[in-house]
Amino acid sequence: MASGRVCVYAGSSPGARPQYMDAARALARALCARRRGIVFGGGRIGLMGALADEALALGGEVIGVMPRQLLERELAHQSLTDLHVVATMHERKALMAQLADAFVALPGGIGTLEELVEMFTWAQLGLHAKPIGIVNVDGYFDSLLAFLAHAVGEGFLSPANHELLTVESDPEAVLDALDRRAPSLS
Ligand code: AMP
Repeated sequence: MASGRVCVYAGSSPGARPQYMDAARALARALCARRRGIVFGGGRIGLMGALADEALALGGEVIGVMPRQLLERELAHQSLTDLHVVATMHERKALMAQLADAFVALPGGIGTLEELVEMFTWAQLGLHAKPIGIVNVDGYFDSLLAFLAHAVGEGFLSPANHELLTVESDPEAVLDALDRRAPSLS
């Protein structure tokens, strides 16, 4: 994925344990080492900010996409490679998806979950064929994964669609798995 960009969804909070911020920085380092750009929500706080700061310090490309309303609340990162300002959250998610070749979710809250699930839904509908990964830091996503397995068991999620999601505990392993799923990006 030499010139590919990865869209990263991540918490706007730091989380309760240092492992979460550490994973955001580790993902940034792994992406920079592979010369992949980052597309993200453009925030300067929480895991989002840690990811952006680490990648920028390493000379990586970091593109933010932020709705005007959040910009006005001064939550935007000030030194990104590029910051796209859009009118609505819907426009933002569409542009983030368009600018990226793959999606990775780090731990986060409702916002992260919503973005991840939307890209999963679009993949299920065949609206895109970009790989999607989850960095399951210290089992943070275990209850979501249990729910998805339950949805398969109960006949609401097909096994084939379930497999669209790549889950690994470590950022490097997630990126390796995404490369295997999208070799054209390598
Ligand atoms: P959450 O997981 O609820 O903290 O929300 C994080 C996700 O929602 C990120 O991936 C962003 O795209 C978006 N988001 C939420 N809050 C902000 C913020 N203050 N600045 C930028 N993006 C945000």
